[in-house]
Amino acid sequence: MSLNRRDFLKESGSCAAHLALAASVMPRALQSLWGRSTSLAVVAREPFGSLEKVADGVWALISTPLSGDRTTLSNGGIIAGRNAVLAIEGFNQPAGAAWLANKARELTGRWPTHVVLTHYHSDHANGVGGYVADANHPSIRSTERTRDLVLQRNVQPPDPSRVAAVKDVVLLSGAEASTLDLGGRAVRIVPRVGHTESDVSLELDDPSLVFCGDLFWNGMFPNYVDAIPTKLAASVRALKRTRDTTYIPGHGTIGKPADYDRYIAMIDEVGQAARKAYAAGTPAADAAGAFTLPTSLGDWTLFNKSMFATAFNAWYRELKAG
Ligand SMILES: [Zn+2]
Repeated sequence: MSLNRRDFLKESGSCAAHLALAASVMPRALQSLWGRSTSLAVVAREPFGSLEKVADGVWALISTPLSGDRTTLSNGGIIAGRNAVLAIEGFNQPAGAAWLANKARELTGRWPTHVVLTHYHSDHANGVGGYVADANHPSIRSTERTRDLVLQRNVQPPDPSRVAAVKDVVLLSGAEASTLDLGGRAVRIVPRVGHTESDVSLELDDPSLVFCGDLFWNGMFPNYVDAIPTKLAASVRALKRTRDTTYIPGHGTIGKPADYDRYIAMIDEVGQAARKAYAAGTPAADAAGAFTLPTSLGDWTLFNKSMFATAFNAWYRELKAG
């Protein structure tokens, strides 16, 4: 997946550009494999990702965003109750949302009745119009800030169905958690901050499961382009549960507690190094250039050095603002 410079700049406010950077450092033969699930629970497989059963009535779409197929670039999923079906994320293209909606109908007998966008980035939101077709008009939900950012920033490619869907969203509180009752299954929607100004997580207690949005990246260094790093660190900690939990990341394969702990340690490592360098007066570019992740944190090979620069710049921005 190589983006030309114009496309890269167009997508530079989103995680799509970050994924293009990741693809640029990965051998071509491996690109289509990143994120590819080997689980027996896969119920559908496409060039852009796999739909995996996570629990009764819960499926995760795990995208393979380096494959070159851009129908979906982010993860998302389906949570079904007796009376309603929730789809998570709008995906990169309307065809991605429509694909997930059709799978929901095959698996549950219902087109999604509800949709939640975790944040505004184009790879999570731009295809949302794909849920609205014929008689199907799910209730689409996002925070007010997410709605506004989609309308202001996600202007390419133009898509009247996206604009119509997003203008119509039912607002989620940006301050307090809410509960969506799907019938015998309550999904907690929790407003959070850190990957962007406004993120939400979707959480179940039984089974213990969290759709983390881009607050969690499994096996790929995260995109800090819009990050507020102290808030990111706090949100990442707040998502962690003490009992055995399944963490669905915004990008990468499904996480278990050990994966999540490793991610927290990595986020902390970046924060400590950035604070130390800032206090020493080292320019962000130099500090990022000298930074490496300790091998004890395992394999985070899928990074381009400029990703560290983006992370250090975000830290410096916040530290400077005091
Ligand atoms: Zn994102």
